Amino acid sequence: MRDIVNKIFSRFKWIRSLRTRLFVIIFLVGFIPGVIMRSAIVSSYEDRGIDVRRFEVQNQLNIIADHLIKYNYLLDNSSEIVNAELNQISNLYDGRILVINGALQVVKDTYYLIEGKTVISPQVIRGLKGISFSTYDRNNQYIEIVTPIIETIGTLNATDEMPEGTEIYHGVILTSVSSDSIITTREILSRKSAIVEMILFFLLLAIALILSNLLVIPFDRVTKAISQVREGLDDEPINVTDYTETEHILDAFNELLRRMKVLDDSRNEFVSNVSHELKTPITSMKVLADSLLAQSDVPEDLYREFLVDIAAEIDREDTIINDLLSLVKMDKSAAVLNIGNVDINVLTEIILKRLRPIARKNDVELVLESKREVTAYVDEVKISLILTNLIENAIKYNKKNGLVTVTVNADHQVFIVEVIDTGSGIPEEFIDHVFERFYRVDKSHSREINGTGLGLAITKSAVLLHMGTIGVVSNEGEGTTFTVRIPLNYIK
Ligand code: ADP
Repeated sequence: MRDIVNKIFSRFKWIRSLRTRLFVIIFLVGFIPGVIMRSAIVSSYEDRGIDVRRFEVQNQLNIIADHLIKYNYLLDNSSEIVNAELNQISNLYDGRILVINGALQVVKDTYYLIEGKTVISPQVIRGLKGISFSTYDRNNQYIEIVTPIIETIGTLNATDEMPEGTEIYHGVILTSVSSDSIITTREILSRKSAIVEMILFFLLLAIALILSNLLVIPFDRVTKAISQVREGLDDEPINVTDYTETEHILDAFNELLRRMKVLDDSRNEFVSNVSHELKTPITSMKVLADSLLAQSDVPEDLYREFLVDIAAEIDREDTIINDLLSLVKMDKSAAVLNIGNVDINVLTEIILKRLRPIARKNDVELVLESKREVTAYVDEVKISLILTNLIENAIKYNKKNGLVTVTVNADHQVFIVEVIDTGSGIPEEFIDHVFERFYRVDKSHSREINGTGLGLAITKSAVLLHMGTIGVVSNEGEGTTFTVRIPLNYIK
């Protein structure tokens, strides 16, 4: 069923249009109540008309029934007053009246057709039992009213056998009145309302068309504004405030636009930084090679010296490319993590052992302060990358006879590694930037110290992959402390 509906919807795209739906809704909401109201009014008019007529005729017949008793009409039908009354009613309501006595004999027929004849019908029998009722024959359009002729014994006539208030059923007035006039009025009413309905139909068609087009204009405006952004004509935040809905859509769109711009800017900056960093060693190599080529009979020692420099530049290029690759790998999803149980103290110990020769070369002492045993469920390679980068920096940017202290601690949720050095420190104005790609604090001084400016960016990415945090506190001239907090159990 759903498939069929989907098929229909995809074939007739216009059904899915908000404009079409609004048009249909406005039209139906206006038209359906109109049609229902018309048919309700017309049909209730007929019922009400019949009821009113029954009531009117019945009232008059009750009066006549009294007159029939009063003028003893059932025994002698010559009373002019009663005859005039009977004729008046039958003319007025376009009907026929039969006055029937207790012996089922027709005393009076306003059509003069069956006077003196006997009538036996269930209606007459019921009427003779004192039951007053009426029926409506919708097909033949007439109302039949049965009015019993009842004499109530008064005080003067009361006897022992018939005390006061006794009712004697003398006969029945059987009346049929036509409902033609009611039906005719109903038909006129129906015709007139059909015309009104027709006018309403076209009016609603026009209103629905205009309104449905007007109501979707803000959405058209949203589409236009978004297309302009897409075509690059406009990159300012856009706003269509006609509806709360359009405002919400565009708020979400503007937020997306803002994020895309940030991403675009950072991508551009990254590309230009990468190009610049990769170009520097190549330019140096080109200068070295050109200066060799420019001279003839270059001594072998100079060749060697220049080649050593070229090899150093190649190494630098290699380091930058490797760092970039690590960064790209780190930017991918957490799926690249190879999680396992790692003893953080042992891992730190191994790293310190590996870095000790470099530290010794820089006259820096490395100390491990383990506050407790820590085993964490993490990616060992990435954690060792984090620790190596931080400790390498702490050695690189340290003073002569400096100290690097690495502390390992944990609470019940995270393990904490602090790398504290006694180096030059990072000036406060630069501290917020150290995790940016290619950022180096003191460019002129940094040239003497090997580095690409990517180490801390890689470190931060690795920490974030583990849902951890990294912070730095530094006092210029006194030293720097990097603090890493990583959850003991990796949660995706
Ligand atoms: P680099 O390859 O230059 O070391 P990093 O991203 O590792 O790049 O570090 C960025 C910059 O932050 C460094 O150039 C340095 O100026 C500064 N920095 C990092 N660690 C320290 C530290 N322990 N002491 C002082 N400065 C540091």
